[in-house]
Amino acid sequence: MIDTEKYAAATIVSRRDLATDLWVVRIRPDCELPFRPGQYVTLGLELDGRIVERPYSIASDPAEGEIELFIERVPEGELSAPLHDVPIGASTLVRKRSKGLFLKEAPVVDQTHLFVATVTGIAPFVSILRSLRRREENGEWSADHPIVALQGASRADELGYEDELRALDKACDWFTYVPTVSRSWEGPDWGGETGRVEDILRKHADAAGLRPGHGGVYLCGNPQMITNCHGIMRRRGFRDKEIREEQYWPD
Ligand SMILES: Cc1cc2nc3c(=O)[nH]c(=O)nc-3n(C[C@H](O)[C@H](O)[C@H](O)COP(=O)(O)OP(=O)(O)OC[C@H]3O[C@@H](n4cnc5c(N)ncnc54)[C@H](O)[C@@H]3O)c2cc1C
Repeated sequence: MIDTEKYAAATIVSRRDLATDLWVVRIRPDCELPFRPGQYVTLGLELDGRIVERPYSIASDPAEGEIELFIERVPEGELSAPLHDVPIGASTLVRKRSKGLFLKEAPVVDQTHLFVATVTGIAPFVSILRSLRRREENGEWSADHPIVALQGASRADELGYEDELRALDKACDWFTYVPTVSRSWEGPDWGGETGRVEDILRKHADAAGLRPGHGGVYLCGNPQMITNCHGIMRRRGFRDKEIREEQYWPD
């Protein structure tokens, strides 16, 4: 028996498949599910008589009406593998409350922001960037400092939001998008940064003028990337409270 106080049904309204194990999906819950950029929803499926659930960061702007997620299918993953097979028109369970404090204070006034993501870790940053762009176009917000987003992946087809973020970079003088791929030899057309995101962190933090006391660093995704980037920024003088983290799985 599903606890309807806790869970709603969420219909899969569309999906976009990237690499074989990565997809962007839009869901429509059958209840109000308000959220702020940087929050996550908890999706579930009833499997063998019990609900298996996991958190997923929201990539959409709260004004969009639907919830967009960017998900990686983990081999043998208890939820992500069966979730990958749920077709458009079918539904999953979703907890009726979104949660998370990752970007609660962002963007902080008078600060340069550095967003750092591995693959699906870009999702909360897409949400806040869409939201800021909408608010800017409505005259409700204007940038006072730059925002730089670094996204690392093995191959370019895993970047997920590359076209959208490149277009935003072109349209907005306050935003810079820097994707980097670590297996560049697998995509001969790649002309951008190569290596892991931690390999290019210092260069782009310096280029953006990020400095302790006047910069916020936000790290999302792979735990090893978070540990490495946290260490690099600490060695540059950033205090722990200036570095925010959303770790997707245990180290
Ligand atoms: C706050 C938060 C937000 C999250 N947002 C997203 C999101 O936007 N998109 C997304 O795809 N995932 C996201 N995750 C991870 C997600 O919740 C699940 O952990 C993931 O989908 C794997 O669940 P599973 O049941 O398939 O695998 P499990 O059966 O739970 O795990 C199998 C093994 O894989 C490891 N693992 C989990 N995720 C990964 C991964 N991506 N790569 C490699 N190993 C992994 C686990 O540590 C475990 O050892 C988020 C996690 C948190 C805590």
